[in-house]
Amino acid sequence: MSRSLHSWYGPSDLDRFAERGVELEGRLEIKQLSRLRDMLHTDAGQVQVKLSFGRGDAGWLHMSLEYRTTLWLVCQRCLEPLEFEADAKVELGLIESAGVAIPENFEPVVLENDRLRPAQLLEDELIVALPLVPKHRTVEECGQLARQLVNNGARATRDSH
Ligand SMILES: [Zn+2]
Repeated sequence: MSRSLHSWYGPSDLDRFAERGVELEGRLEIKQLSRLRDMLHTDAGQVQVKLSFGRGDAGWLHMSLEYRTTLWLVCQRCLEPLEFEADAKVELGLIESAGVAIPENFEPVVLENDRLRPAQLLEDELIVALPLVPKHRTVEECGQLARQLVNNGARATRDSH
Protein backbone atom coordinates (compact mmCIF):
# COMPACT_ATOMS: atom_id res chain seq x y z
CA MET A 1 0.00 0.00 0.00
CA SER A 2 2.74 2.43 0.97
CA ARG A 3 4.45 1.67 -2.35
CA SER A 4 1.80 3.67 -4.15
CA LEU A 5 2.81 6.82 -2.28
CA HIS A 6 6.23 6.56 -3.90
CA SER A 7 4.80 6.25 -7.43
CA TRP A 8 4.55 9.02 -9.98
CA TYR A 9 1.02 9.84 -11.14
CA GLY A 10 0.44 11.51 -14.49
CA PRO A 11 -2.42 13.76 -15.67
CA SER A 12 -4.77 10.89 -16.57
CA ASP A 13 -4.26 9.22 -13.16
CA LEU A 14 -4.87 12.51 -11.39
CA ASP A 15 -8.02 13.20 -13.44
CA ARG A 16 -9.35 9.80 -12.48
CA PHE A 17 -8.49 10.36 -8.81
CA ALA A 18 -10.32 13.69 -8.83
CA GLU A 19 -13.42 12.34 -10.57
CA ARG A 20 -13.73 9.42 -8.20
CA GLY A 21 -12.72 11.32 -5.08
CA VAL A 22 -9.97 8.78 -4.48
CA GLU A 23 -8.28 8.48 -1.10
CA LEU A 24 -4.78 7.11 -0.73
CA GLU A 25 -3.65 6.08 2.69
CA GLY A 26 -0.45 4.52 3.93
CA ARG A 27 2.75 4.79 5.88
CA LEU A 28 6.09 6.02 4.68
CA GLU A 29 9.40 5.06 6.23
CA ILE A 30 11.25 8.18 7.33
CA LYS A 31 14.53 6.65 6.17
CA GLN A 32 13.20 6.66 2.60
CA LEU A 33 12.76 10.44 2.69
CA SER A 34 16.37 11.26 1.91
CA ARG A 35 16.25 15.06 2.15
CA LEU A 36 14.35 15.03 5.43
CA ARG A 37 16.47 12.32 7.07
CA ASP A 38 19.58 14.47 6.69
CA MET A 39 17.95 17.02 9.00
CA LEU A 40 17.13 14.54 11.75
CA HIS A 41 18.87 13.02 14.75
CA THR A 42 17.46 9.60 13.87
CA ASP A 43 15.55 8.42 10.82
CA ALA A 44 13.68 5.63 12.61
CA GLY A 45 9.90 5.64 12.42
CA GLN A 46 7.13 6.22 9.95
CA VAL A 47 4.83 8.93 8.73
CA GLN A 48 1.14 8.18 8.57
CA VAL A 49 -0.33 9.77 5.46
CA LYS A 50 -3.77 10.24 3.95
CA LEU A 51 -4.48 11.97 0.66
CA SER A 52 -7.87 12.72 -0.83
CA PHE A 53 -8.50 14.15 -4.25
CA GLY A 54 -11.21 16.33 -5.69
CA ARG A 55 -11.76 19.15 -8.13
CA GLY A 56 -12.21 22.86 -7.54
CA ASP A 57 -14.88 24.98 -9.22
CA ALA A 58 -12.71 26.16 -12.08
CA GLY A 59 -11.44 22.67 -12.79
CA TRP A 60 -8.20 22.78 -10.87
CA LEU A 61 -7.18 19.72 -8.91
CA HIS A 62 -7.66 19.76 -5.18
CA MET A 63 -5.86 17.51 -2.73
CA SER A 64 -6.12 17.23 1.05
CA LEU A 65 -2.98 15.98 2.68
CA GLU A 66 -3.03 14.72 6.25
CA TYR A 67 0.07 13.50 7.98
CA ARG A 68 1.14 12.48 11.44
CA THR A 69 4.56 11.51 12.70
CA THR A 70 7.12 12.04 15.43
CA LEU A 71 10.46 13.36 14.24
CA TRP A 72 13.69 13.55 16.20
CA LEU A 73 15.44 16.83 15.51
CA VAL A 74 18.78 18.06 16.82
CA CYS A 75 18.54 20.82 19.43
CA GLN A 76 20.70 23.70 18.25
CA ARG A 77 21.56 24.70 21.82
CA CYS A 78 22.75 21.36 23.24
CA LEU A 79 22.93 19.15 20.12
CA GLU A 80 20.85 16.46 21.79
CA PRO A 81 17.69 14.88 20.35
CA LEU A 82 14.50 16.91 20.43
CA GLU A 83 11.08 15.36 19.88
CA PHE A 84 8.87 17.10 17.34
CA GLU A 85 5.26 16.12 16.69
CA ALA A 86 4.32 16.83 13.09
CA ASP A 87 0.58 16.55 12.67
CA ALA A 88 -1.33 18.58 10.12
CA LYS A 89 -3.95 18.70 7.44
CA VAL A 90 -3.18 20.92 4.47
CA GLU A 91 -5.38 21.83 1.54
CA LEU A 92 -3.46 21.98 -1.70
CA GLY A 93 -4.29 23.14 -5.20
CA LEU A 94 -2.31 21.09 -7.73
CA ILE A 95 -1.69 23.32 -10.73
CA GLU A 96 0.25 23.03 -13.98
CA SER A 97 1.84 26.46 -13.83
CA ALA A 98 2.28 29.23 -11.29
CA GLY A 99 -0.27 31.47 -13.07
CA VAL A 100 -3.37 29.40 -12.31
CA ALA A 101 -5.63 31.18 -9.82
CA ILE A 102 -6.90 29.16 -6.88
CA PRO A 103 -8.74 30.28 -3.72
CA GLU A 104 -6.68 31.78 -0.90
CA ASN A 105 -7.27 28.96 1.55
CA PHE A 106 -5.46 26.51 -0.71
CA GLU A 107 -1.72 26.25 -0.90
CA PRO A 108 -0.64 26.17 -4.57
CA VAL A 109 1.63 23.32 -5.64
CA VAL A 110 3.03 23.47 -9.16
CA LEU A 111 3.28 19.95 -10.56
CA GLU A 112 6.54 18.83 -12.07
CA ASN A 113 5.77 17.90 -15.71
CA ASP A 114 2.09 17.57 -14.72
CA ARG A 115 2.98 14.65 -12.51
CA LEU A 116 2.67 14.05 -8.78
CA ARG A 117 4.71 11.82 -6.49
CA PRO A 118 2.91 11.89 -3.11
CA ALA A 119 6.00 10.90 -1.09
CA GLN A 120 7.96 13.83 -2.52
CA LEU A 121 5.19 16.31 -1.83
CA LEU A 122 4.83 15.03 1.73
CA GLU A 123 8.56 15.37 2.28
CA ASP A 124 8.41 19.00 1.06
CA GLU A 125 5.55 19.71 3.47
CA LEU A 126 7.37 18.14 6.42
CA ILE A 127 10.55 20.09 5.73
CA VAL A 128 8.60 23.35 5.61
CA ALA A 129 6.86 22.44 8.89
CA LEU A 130 10.13 22.00 10.79
CA PRO A 131 11.18 24.81 13.12
CA LEU A 132 13.87 27.02 11.59
CA VAL A 133 16.11 26.65 14.63
CA PRO A 134 15.02 23.60 16.65
CA LYS A 135 15.58 24.05 20.39
CA HIS A 136 14.36 22.50 23.62
CA ARG A 137 11.70 24.71 25.19
CA THR A 138 13.86 25.76 28.12
CA VAL A 139 17.55 25.79 28.93
CA GLU A 140 16.76 23.39 31.80
CA GLU A 141 15.58 20.78 29.30
CA CYS A 142 18.80 21.10 27.36
CA GLY A 143 21.59 18.65 27.95
CA GLN A 144 19.45 16.30 30.03
CA LEU A 145 20.86 13.28 28.29
CA ALA A 146 24.41 14.38 29.05
CA ARG A 147 23.49 15.08 32.68
CA GLN A 148 21.88 11.66 33.05
CA LEU A 149 25.01 10.00 31.77
CA VAL A 150 27.09 11.90 34.32
CA ASN A 151 24.66 11.06 37.14
CA ASN A 152 24.75 7.40 36.18
CA GLY A 153 28.42 7.38 36.92
CA ALA A 154 29.83 7.73 33.46
CA ARG A 155 32.87 9.86 34.09
CA ALA A 156 33.10 12.87 31.89
CA THR A 157 36.81 12.85 31.30
CA ARG A 158 37.55 16.40 30.42
CA ASP A 159 41.12 17.40 29.83
CA SER A 160 41.48 20.89 31.10
CA HIS A 161 42.84 23.29 28.56
ZN1 LIG B 1 18.69 21.37 23.98
